[in-house]
Parts: sequence; structure tokens; C-alpha cells
Amino acid sequence: MAAKEPLNVDPEEVAKFNALASRWWDPEGDFRPLHEINPLRLDWIRQHAELAGRKVVDIGCGGGILAESMAVSGADVLGIDMADGPLTVAKLHLAESGAEVSYEQITAEALAANKAGEFDVVTCLEMLEHVPDPSRIIRSCAELVTPGGHVFFSTINRNLKSFAFAIVGAEYLLKLLPAGTHDYQKFIRPSELEEWARNAGLELRASIGMHYNPVTKDYSLGTGLDVNYLMHFQRPDGE
Ligand code: SAH
Repeated sequence: MAAKEPLNVDPEEVAKFNALASRWWDPEGDFRPLHEINPLRLDWIRQHAELAGRKVVDIGCGGGILAESMAVSGADVLGIDMADGPLTVAKLHLAESGAEVSYEQITAEALAANKAGEFDVVTCLEMLEHVPDPSRIIRSCAELVTPGGHVFFSTINRNLKSFAFAIVGAEYLLKLLPAGTHDYQKFIRPSELEEWARNAGLELRASIGMHYNPVTKDYSLGTGLDVNYLMHFQRPDGE
């Protein structure tokens, strides 16, 4: 393990999510977009990877919206995050929902040092744009997944349109998210994400855009990765 590498965690980001934690499961609250996109992204994941009976780790799970939904789909899910507020909310929510998920406050890098190759599916959604070095998270995801296993990422592209839509539109005009949720400089181009994943030994299998229609107030998946997007990778079998 590269023990001397600095902790790949931005304390300001962790503080931001801690401050919002109590509102995580309010479907009309600050995390409303995550509630609304969850069925779409869960469906997309299930189109590409079996979840029932599989071991899954959700990196940067927050309050557990995706983690719980994957558990309900039959997966054995571990959710990890570095913010203790959202993790506490995630654990409390299990009592309400009856879902079964394990939660742990640990970095992806530290988990990869102990549990390399142990997970059939690794998910890391809406998280890479909040860390100092996303390429290291991607490398850890590639280490955590079993040969032949699946890795899913989602994040926000970096261009004029994504600035206009994801920051000006979503945070200031439509107020879908609290102002300051996202930092344009941290957005990631699909080509960058793919290159980091390729360097980590992952092969791109599919990608899709996620679009918001401000008139119908609906989200949908489709072509065009210019703002929000998801990518599916696989670790080659037989390594
Ligand atoms: N993946 C969840 C939550 C996204 S919000 C979903 O899509 O529903 C981003 C989450 O990433 C927050 O919970 C935040 O605490 C977490 N996070 C930020 N930096 C992190 C890091 N370095 N390690 C683990 N989690 C981190």
C-alpha cells in the first residue's frame, strides 16, 4: 500500500455533506435530485450487471439512497463514506425501511488495501467530483472489484454547457441543489474518466447521459454525455 500518499479526502466537502445529512431522506429536500434519479440509475446498473446475490460496495454512499435500493434488489451491500453524518442517517434509515446494508467510515483506498478483489460490483456515483484526486478512487475501485466484475461511475462533464446547466441552472436558477454543491473545476470529462479507468485496468462497456427537463421536471437517460453521465466498466476476466 502507498502509505505515504496523503488522505484523498477534502475536509470541506465532508463538512458540507455532514451539514446536510439530516435532510438526506427528505424526498422534497436538498437531496431531491438523488431521489429522483435513483430509479433510473438503478435500472441502468441492473441492465448491465446482476445484483441479486452479488457482493457490492458503494463508494461515497452518503445517506444510502443507492445502497439501499441495491440491497432491495437482492445484493449484499457495503456502503462506505468519509462523512459520519450521512453514515449515521444511513444506519438509522435501515430501521425505517427494513433494508439490510452494512456501513463503514473508511476511504476507498484503505478498503482496497484490505478487501482487494472481493466485490462483484463496485458503484461510485456522484462522488468523484468531490475528491482531491479522482484517479486514485478509480484505481481503488479497480482493485476492489473481482476479475470479470463491474464498476459504475457517474459524475458531471466539464464544459460551457455543464457550467450553465449543472451550476448556474441547477444551483442558482432552479435551486435543485444548494448553492456551492458543485465546483466546476472538479468536473470530469468522459475522456478523462475513461483514461483513468483504462490506466487502472478497466475496460469501458457502456456510457449514457442523464438529462433534466426543466419544463416537465423529469430526469431521463439518453445520448449526450455533455452534462451528467454514467459509465460502466468491467475488469477483464482471468487476470
Ligand atoms: N453516492 C451517493 C451520494 C452522493 S453525495 C448517491 O449518489 O446517492 C457525495 C458523497 O461522497 C457524500 O456523502 C460525501 O460525504 C462523500 N465523499 C466525499 N469525499 C469522499 C471521500 N474521499 N471518501 C468517501 N466518501 C466521500
